[in-house]
Amino acid sequence: MTERHADLLHNEATTSRVHSSHDVAIIGAGPIGLELAVCLKRAGLDYIHFDAHQIGYTMTWWPHNTYFFSTTERLAIAGVPIQNNHQQRITGEDYLAYLRAIVEQFDLAINTYEPVAALARTPEGFTLTTQPLAGERHYHCRRIVLAIGDMHRPNYLQIPGEDLPHVSHYFRDPHDYFRKRLLIIGGRNSAVEAALRCWRAGAQVTLSYRRAQFDEQTVKHWVLPDIQAQIEAGTIGFLPATLPVEITPTHVALLPATPEQPDNTPILHETDFVLINSGFRGEQDLLEMAGVTLRGENRTPLFNPETMETNVPGLYLVGTVVAGIQQRYSLFIENSHEHAGKVTAALTGHWPTQLGSVASRNYDLRLEQIKTN
Ligand SMILES: Cc1cc2nc3c(=O)[nH]c(=O)nc-3n(C[C@H](O)[C@H](O)[C@H](O)COP(=O)(O)OP(=O)(O)OC[C@H]3O[C@@H](n4cnc5c(N)ncnc54)[C@H](O)[C@@H]3O)c2cc1C
Repeated sequence: MTERHADLLHNEATTSRVHSSHDVAIIGAGPIGLELAVCLKRAGLDYIHFDAHQIGYTMTWWPHNTYFFSTTERLAIAGVPIQNNHQQRITGEDYLAYLRAIVEQFDLAINTYEPVAALARTPEGFTLTTQPLAGERHYHCRRIVLAIGDMHRPNYLQIPGEDLPHVSHYFRDPHDYFRKRLLIIGGRNSAVEAALRCWRAGAQVTLSYRRAQFDEQTVKHWVLPDIQAQIEAGTIGFLPATLPVEITPTHVALLPATPEQPDNTPILHETDFVLINSGFRGEQDLLEMAGVTLRGENRTPLFNPETMETNVPGLYLVGTVVAGIQQRYSLFIENSHEHAGKVTAALTGHWPTQLGSVASRNYDLRLEQIKTN
């Protein structure tokens, strides 16, 4: 059999198993993927929508009862307000309830628990391969929008013992550490909030941070004085400028983090549990498979800022995936609404009538465009 024959047979086999064909495929049903879905549904476009997990998956693994830093008008999508009885910030759980209500209100069809494992370019557009539990499926679509976020997995420290059962990269609930010794590794907001919550819940907490002091740019302004007061009072232990080098079932070995401290004898810190708060990073396999150019240390995808179309024709990006592997966050929900507007305009020729918060509360979206539509 010639190579050409083999290719033809392969293409035929794939085509015969194609589940369905669509104009657009949205991959990812986080807040921005959902906002885009509402825009495309309102515009009457034929699209299919996938999520590897449940909608809003990123918020499902946040620590229980974590409050957004962003205020409600900045988190609202598709012009649907977030109302609550206290007019304060909301938790991840509140937001998930809001996102479920959005899906029900607009009756959005979403293939949840159907991860997109591969995508390939074809002369007409793209073939997607998905892997739901029921078995592999294939879809054809002319255009793709990636809304996959940037938090697929933790930044691993790559040190011995990181995979031990008492070590976690995800903070679930302070209750887990009640009356236990907990070493938290990290010093950005998540680590500091975890330290305060676990200590207030009755854990004996120590923080190990690679820097000598906290950075006020990365810790919420109302949390910083709280942690500083606890450290000063000695209620929460602080090991500044220390780097973990090994974790054992009973100890964490820490070395001085700064060159000014030449002492190479590790401190052996005794603990029951270790919580590593070293941030998260996105998987970029789908971008690579499609041939999107990734640049710089953040591996930022190349795209046209007017349309959000990448260097791969027909492949668009919305949400935090746009920023690459952002280690200092620059894209959030509040400054990603506009992506959904730009892609909608590129795909339909019209800027969506409702985006982000209700128009009267919009802050920096293209208000004049919303008004004129
Ligand atoms: C503790 C914590 C607090 C935060 N606080 C704030 C805050 O105050 N304000 C703020 O704006 N942001 C905050 N963030 C970040 C926030 O989670 C992101 O800004 C937001 O989730 C980005 O939305 P998104 O729609 O771009 O992507 P995501 O919400 O990450 O959604 C991506 C979706 O894509 C799906 N997906 C990924 N890969 C695939 C695939 N191959 N196939 C199918 N589906 C796939 C995922 O399952 C997920 O549902 C916080 C994050 C954490 C961890």
